[in-house]
Order: sequence, then C-alpha cells, then structure tokens
Amino acid sequence: MTAPRTIALDGPAGVGKSTIGKLLADRHHYLFLDTGVLYRAVSLVAVRQGIASADTARLREVARDLDVEILRAEPESEFMYRVSIDGEDVTEILRSPEVEQIVSEVSAHPQVRAELLQRQREIARANPSVLVGRDIGTVVLPDADLKVYLDATLEERTMRRHRERLQQDPMYPYERVLAELQRRDKLDTERASSPLRVPDDALLIDTTGKDVDAVLLAIEARMTGG
Ligand code: C5P
Repeated sequence: MTAPRTIALDGPAGVGKSTIGKLLADRHHYLFLDTGVLYRAVSLVAVRQGIASADTARLREVARDLDVEILRAEPESEFMYRVSIDGEDVTEILRSPEVEQIVSEVSAHPQVRAELLQRQREIARANPSVLVGRDIGTVVLPDADLKVYLDATLEERTMRRHRERLQQDPMYPYERVLAELQRRDKLDTERASSPLRVPDDALLIDTTGKDVDAVLLAIEARMTGG
C-alpha cells in the first residue's frame, strides 16, 4: 500500500486528536492542520469585537476576512504550534474559557463553516497533510486516503482537559471542565451543519487508558496496510 497523502483525524474535545495528529505528522513528514484553531480564531475575534454568537452575518465576515497564520512553535515551547491573527500572537488566548464558551455556537453556522472550508481543502491539496477536527473525514476531505476517529470516555477526556487547565489556573474546578465538555459534545454532535460523526470508513480507536504510543502504533499499522 502506498502511504496515504491525506489523513483525516476526527473526534470529540479532549480525546487527544491534536497530540496524536501532530506527532503523526512530524514522524511521517506531513503538514499538520488543527482545524479547531480556525473556529477558535473566529470566536476570539467575535469576543473582542462584541459580536454575538447568533450574529451569522458578522461572523461570516470575520471568517471570510480572517488573517490567521499557523507557525511552528519553538522546540522548548509548551505549545505544539503558534497562531497569529493580524500578526498578533494569540496562541494562548485561543485556549481560554472565553473562547471555549462560544466556539461551538460560532462553528454551528453553516455560513461560517463554508467560509473556512476552502482554506482547509486548499491546504490539504497543496501538501501531504494530517487534518484534525470534527468533520474532516465526513465533509472537508470525504476522499481522504486514511480516516481515523478517536474516542474516549467523558471521564477520561475531562481528566485530560482538567490537567491542562490546572497549568493555567491551579484552582480550576473539575466539574466545570466536565460541564464544558458535555456542552460542547452536545452542540457539536447535534448541530445540523457538519455534525461530529464517525465517518463510515474510519479506523475507530478508543483511546481510554491507552498511551500516545499505543494509539500512534494502531494508526501507523493502518498507514502501512496492516
Ligand atoms: O478541536 P477544538 O477543541 O480546538 O475545536 C474547538 C471547536 O471548534 C469544537 O468544539 C467545534 O465546535 C469546532 N470545530 C468544528 N469543526 C472542526 C474543528 C472544530 O466545528 N473541524
């Protein structure tokens, strides 16, 4: 089997998609695109400009005009990559609770999704790529050479996200992370436009209790036809 040119990696929040996708891309020389960054960037601009998450027309303009760059992080950085909007580094603030609070509402607008769709496809067309998100295998790249869907129990995903949050705020309550994930899961799976779904032809991996290497090995076995 020839190596896949495009790899679609989907799954719910906190499942480890970005970690796995980035490692996979680095190990096999693919470009890595975490598509959640695009929806987070639109959401951050909305927060800053006081645009309501129901204001389709203005959100669509933000998505259309978004000047976002995703750059390689310095090797010792705690981040996997750096993101800038209009030249300003927003890497950290894209992960803030204020952005997470509205991102699933912002990304539910089909008009916003349509504006971001072409960018994602262009990147995948131009480079051998790993794209990570919610609708990559179903909508963005339905012909991806390899589709992977990662899942894990809500409890495990909450524990992982909570560990990350504690680094920013040592008092951040577990229950709050749990409620946020439940809310985003519900919005992402129940929206009408490109909801989170397991693509028919995806390799399904439950990452609960598995370490990163075990998940990578399972994907790599499929990449080489195993
Ligand atoms: O993956 P991440 O948690 O960064 O995604 C943030 C949000 O962006 C998701 O909860 C979802 O609402 C939205 N998203 C999406 N489609 C994608 C990637 C992310 O709707 N392909």
